[in-house]
Amino acid sequence: MNSDFAVDRPAEVLHDPWDREHLWHPYTSTINPLPTYKVKSASGVRLRLADGRELIDGMSSWWAAIHGYNHPVINRAVRAQIDRMSHVMFGGLTHEPAIELGKRLLEMAPPSMHNIFYADSGSVAVEVAMKMAVQAAVSKSGDHGKTNFVTIRSGYHGDTWNAMSVCDPVTGMHGAFGPALPVRFFVPQPRSRFDGEWDVADIKPLEDLLEKHHAEIAAMILEPIVQGAGGMWFYHPQYLREARKLCDRYGIYLIFDEIATGFWRTGKAFAWEHAGVEPDIMCIGKGLTAGYLTSSAVLTSAQVARTISEGEAGVMMHGPTFMGNPLACAIGVASIDLLRSQPMTEVIARHERVMRQELAPARDFPGVADVRVLGAIGVVKMKEPVNVGEFQKECVARGIWVRPFGRNVYIMPPYIMEEADLRTLCREMLNIIK
Ligand code: PMP
Repeated sequence: MNSDFAVDRPAEVLHDPWDREHLWHPYTSTINPLPTYKVKSASGVRLRLADGRELIDGMSSWWAAIHGYNHPVINRAVRAQIDRMSHVMFGGLTHEPAIELGKRLLEMAPPSMHNIFYADSGSVAVEVAMKMAVQAAVSKSGDHGKTNFVTIRSGYHGDTWNAMSVCDPVTGMHGAFGPALPVRFFVPQPRSRFDGEWDVADIKPLEDLLEKHHAEIAAMILEPIVQGAGGMWFYHPQYLREARKLCDRYGIYLIFDEIATGFWRTGKAFAWEHAGVEPDIMCIGKGLTAGYLTSSAVLTSAQVARTISEGEAGVMMHGPTFMGNPLACAIGVASIDLLRSQPMTEVIARHERVMRQELAPARDFPGVADVRVLGAIGVVKMKEPVNVGEFQKECVARGIWVRPFGRNVYIMPPYIMEEADLRTLCREMLNIIK
């Protein structure tokens, strides 16, 4: 990396003072914001900063840029679609990109998925899924009290109101919004590791809670296998099988939030495949549009869709302006075709093997609590919270881009990353941790 490239350049080239004064960046103060680095362009797995430095991207821009940046195939699809139409309303109109994307999604999704609702972002997909569950539960039971939700602790489902209400009550947004949020049911995070033994005690709290409160609960929502922004935890597939059984026993819908886990990130097209149990409602986003545009989708079984339509309202009560945006759908089609053109099991297995090798030495570092790797996700869990600003300064100096949160230092590189870059990324990350 050409890290001394910037030596004689003013700091403003990299840290824009106007930006610092006026622009809100996620989860940082306006009075004393964390540094932000100006990016001029991005291509392949590299972010090019305004001072010319290049960073190997370990974040895929928060799980989204699965094929890296500036991908010629997706760029071509964008250009072709822009010349036809960027957007038309989805009310009363439809188009090939929405249909083609939908067909591909149903081919990849759990077999029972049948109906697709296009939404604007991951959080909105979660809102839509929760609204669907309530509409369907009320329609099915005729009981207007069956409208609450249960979820597992340490989850993350987004930043909008209902999504916040099912995020972890301690590390999530409950502190800031407290009584303003609807009160949900929480069960403990399953402690059985993905790669360890299943402990039947893990399901007991859900069993007990549903026995008592099933009449109030419309749905259970969870991130299957990998809890992402709530703590980067990988739990045992048996939890999903047991949860499915309990939901069936009590007539509760099961919602899988696959927004982060979808599109091969965990080594399977979607994380439900690790357990072999299907949800009633499923949210996807992030990788859906390969990091190009915001878009998401909520998939449901035919039964859920029918039950909603047979309910009081007779329709699903949601319809965003940019629903089914043709540009986003065309990107989704190109992205899925790219995935289909590659041996994805092998691609992700290679990432997993390299990360396992390269991150293993961190287990012996005194400040490290745990190291875990699944698919194209590598996590080093620290004993103490990480100073993000300092950590990122070191990353930039060493030519990598990693953004930790809490005690988690983690990477989920674009799938196109070459082995040599992945090794450099892991090694530099460990050098900083050390
Ligand atoms: N659900 C999960 C599992 C997520 O990881 C995220 C985003 N990190 C969301 C929902 C929210 O998605 P968005 O940021 O696109 O609203």
